[in-house]
Amino acid sequence: MLELDEWLCQHLNKTKEAGLYRKVRTMNTAPRSTMLIDGRRQIVFSSNNYLGLANNQRLVTAAEAILHEYGVGSSGSRLTTGHTDWHHKIEEKIASFKQTEAALLFSSGYLANVGVLSTLPKEGDVILSDQLNHASIIDGCRLSKAKTVVYNHIDMDDLEKKLNETASYKRRFIVTDGVFSMDGTIAPLDQMISLAKRYHAYTIVDDAHATGVLGKNGRGTSEYFGVRPDVVIGTFSKAIGTEGGFVAGSHVLIDFLLNNARTFIFQTAMPPAICAASYAALEVIEESYDKRQQLVSNVEKIKTSLIEMGYLVKGDLTPIIPVIIGDPNEAVGFSEKLQEKGIYAPAIRPPTVPEGESRIRLTVTSDHTAKEIDYLLECFQFIGKELSIK
Ligand SMILES: *Cc1c(COP(=O)(O)O)cnc(C)c1O
Repeated sequence: MLELDEWLCQHLNKTKEAGLYRKVRTMNTAPRSTMLIDGRRQIVFSSNNYLGLANNQRLVTAAEAILHEYGVGSSGSRLTTGHTDWHHKIEEKIASFKQTEAALLFSSGYLANVGVLSTLPKEGDVILSDQLNHASIIDGCRLSKAKTVVYNHIDMDDLEKKLNETASYKRRFIVTDGVFSMDGTIAPLDQMISLAKRYHAYTIVDDAHATGVLGKNGRGTSEYFGVRPDVVIGTFSKAIGTEGGFVAGSHVLIDFLLNNARTFIFQTAMPPAICAASYAALEVIEESYDKRQQLVSNVEKIKTSLIEMGYLVKGDLTPIIPVIIGDPNEAVGFSEKLQEKGIYAPAIRPPTVPEGESRIRLTVTSDHTAKEIDYLLECFQFIGKELSIK
């Protein structure tokens, strides 16, 4: 038998040979559009801080006040000693923001997804899950005793076919990302919800990337399509700019999850100061029509220009802009060249995306200036020619 480290090294070497080795980079500044990364100035096109709130003064001030009053940690799970008035307030705020009866806070979006999917669908039920759903949905499905059936990405014909094929199951749940994190596509919730009604299925939408971004008031895909899924999941870690996850829905759903979801019951409550910052964030978002307009115009500018240059750009009008390169090593080479020029935009490779679809995944925020965007486009023009990629 090999020593543990020797065996692990063999694994890592294979990962390296396949061009799939990952490592972390150190940010030496607050999350802004231009940051110090590993000590070097870079314009960042990879953050989820879509409205620039992670560093917003109103959020910082709100957190600071509660930090002084309540301390740093919450000291227990919500059902023991961890629940404060700030947890209550933020849950009421989420429900009013999402226009649902109630909401339940989790420590992250990941835990909210795992909590819902491992709790609601039971043995004898089936979960119909989009092929490109987030890893936390996939992990939730794995923990569930229900069977999981995967349908082709945003393909409503395939979903309908699979609804027909699963008629013998006790209950059917359809689960989807609202905005897909790697492709920037928007799930067609209007069609999905009419299918769900017709086939008597329940709908679960993970609105991680849509909350704060889509819809006139930033309420997410439900507002964008004017529909009401049964269960809405979200995170504070993207446009809201803080940390934490939530589920929004009926009083009964929330009561059921509070009593059953293990990732709620056995997890320490979020720090009250972060609840206060998130509360301030939702207030800012409700007033941030201008920020959303700026975000959309930044996205449009980048997408249109890259397509004009001849790049293969995927997705709908969302802040996630995948530029397909194909080969993982080429994608990494492209990303490195961008970095040499002071642009930070990571290469995304399998297993995160399918084989042959390695990409540069750009994300845009309302804080990016016209100058920063022009420079990004110049770099794409230059590197594309140099590597003969387009
Ligand atoms: C980021 C993300 C999550 C996880 O949220 P965290 O709060 O970071 O744990 C879940 N689902 C989707 C679609 C995401 O993009």
